[in-house]
Amino acid sequence: MVNDFDVVVIGAGAAGLLAATRAALRGRRVLLLEKNNKPGVKILMSGGTRCNLTHATDRQGIVGAFGKQGNFLHSALAALGPEEVVSLFAAAGVATKVEPTGKVFPVSNRAVDVLEALKQMLAQSGAELRLGEAVQEISYCENGFHIQTGCGNFVAEKIILTTGGKSYPGCGTTGDGYVWAKQFGHKIVPPRPALVPLRSECRWVAELSGVTLPDVKVQIITSTSKKPVAEQRGSFLFTHFGLSGPAVMNVSRAITARPDADDWQIVCDFLPTLNQEETLAQLSDAARTSGKSPLASALAKWLPRRLVEALLAQACIPVTRRVAELSKVERARLVDALKRQSIPISGSLGFKKAEVTAGGVELREVDSSTMQSKIKPGLYLAGEILDLDGPIGGYNFQAAFSTGWLAGESA
Ligand SMILES: Cc1cc2nc3c(=O)[nH]c(=O)nc-3n(C[C@H](O)[C@H](O)[C@H](O)COP(=O)(O)OP(=O)(O)OC[C@H]3O[C@@H](n4cnc5c(N)ncnc54)[C@H](O)[C@@H]3O)c2cc1C
Repeated sequence: MVNDFDVVVIGAGAAGLLAATRAALRGRRVLLLEKNNKPGVKILMSGGTRCNLTHATDRQGIVGAFGKQGNFLHSALAALGPEEVVSLFAAAGVATKVEPTGKVFPVSNRAVDVLEALKQMLAQSGAELRLGEAVQEISYCENGFHIQTGCGNFVAEKIILTTGGKSYPGCGTTGDGYVWAKQFGHKIVPPRPALVPLRSECRWVAELSGVTLPDVKVQIITSTSKKPVAEQRGSFLFTHFGLSGPAVMNVSRAITARPDADDWQIVCDFLPTLNQEETLAQLSDAARTSGKSPLASALAKWLPRRLVEALLAQACIPVTRRVAELSKVERARLVDALKRQSIPISGSLGFKKAEVTAGGVELREVDSSTMQSKIKPGLYLAGEILDLDGPIGGYNFQAAFSTGWLAGESA
C-alpha cells in the first residue's frame, strides 16, 4: 500500500523534529520517518546529557561562529533565532539558563526535557511520527517523491532530508542522506570528523590521563606552517589516548581536514593569563620570597602537581630543584614548557567520537531563503547534512533548529 503525504521528513533529530512540526502547523500532511526506535537520540546524549541547546548571543553571533559558512544562516536565523529558540522551549515548559560560558541549558539540566518538549510540539502539530522506519530508497515519480522503508512505501510532493552527518554512527547517523542528495545531483563536500578528541602517541601525555585544566590556549601548527592554522582557548583534558576538552575539540577540524599530513603539533600555553615577561617575573619573585621551596611546589599554585612534574621533566629540570637554584637557561626552558609546550598529534578519534561532521551538501546548491535544493525542486535539506559545522557552545543545535524550522516553513 502506498501512503500519500504532502511532506515526508527523513530523520527525527533536532532539524527533522522542528521541520515536521512547522510544516504540520501550516496545515501540511506531514510524515516524519526515523530509523531508530526513538527520536532525538543525539539530543539525549548532548551536552553531557544536559543539552546545550543554543548560545546566549544574537543572530550575528551565531553567523560569526560558523565562519565563512555562517552567511548561509541569515534567513534561517531570521525565521528562528537564538532568542526564539529559548522562547519556543519556554512556551513548551522548558525554562533555560545561561552559564558563564554563554552556553544555554535547560534549568533542569536534563536533555530529556528538551526532547520531551520537541515530541510534545510535534504531537500537537498533527505530524505523524513513525519509528523504526529506516528509509532505504528515494526516487522521483510523477506525483513527487517515492520513499521506500523496510516497512512500507510513501509518496510525497516534497521531502526534507534531515538525516544528519556521519559522526557517532551508533546513533543512526551513517551518512545515508548524502547518497540521496548525490543521486539528485548535489555535490557533497567530503565529510570529515569535527569537534573530535585528538590522538597523541606521547607517553607522558597518556600518563597524565585524567588531568583537566580550565584555561589553556592551544595552537595547531605543522612543520611547514609559519602561522598557526587554528587557535582556541578553553578547558583542556589529558586522556589515555591523547587530548580532549573544548579547546582541543574546537581546533580538531583543522587536523581532520588534512588527514594526509603527519606532522601536526598542538602547542599549549598552560598559563595564558600571564605573558612571557610576567611568567619570568613571577618566577623571580618566587626565588626571592620562597627560594628554598621546591620548584614543583611553587608551580603547583598555578597547575596540577602531576602536570608540573611532567613539564619539569620535559624541560629537563630535576623535580627536586629549588626555586632559587634555577639557572637562567633552565628558567627559559621552564617558560617554554609552560607556555609553548609542543605535543605531536597522530590523528583524531574519527567519526566514532566526533560531535559533528564537517562537510556535507554543498551550500551553494541550496537556496538559503527556503532550504530548497536549487537542483531538485521539492527536495529540502536541513541540519547537519549540510556543509555547516560550528564550534562547541550550542551553535550546532541552533543551526539544526533554524534550518529545520525554515525548511518546514517553506516545504
Ligand atoms: C555526544 C554529542 C554531544 C553533542 N552535544 C551538543 C550540544 O550540547 N550542543 C550542540 O549544539 N550540539 C551538540 N552536538 C551536535 C548535535 O547533536 C548535532 O549537531 C545535531 O544533533 C544535528 O541535528 P540533525 O537533526 O541535523 O541531525 P541528527 O540529530 O544527527 O539526526 C539525524 C537523524 O536522522 C536519522 N536517520 C539517518 N538516516 C536515516 C534513514 N535512512 N532513515 C530514517 N532516519 C534516518 C538518524 O537516526 C537521526 O535520528 C552533540 C553531538 C554529539 C554526538
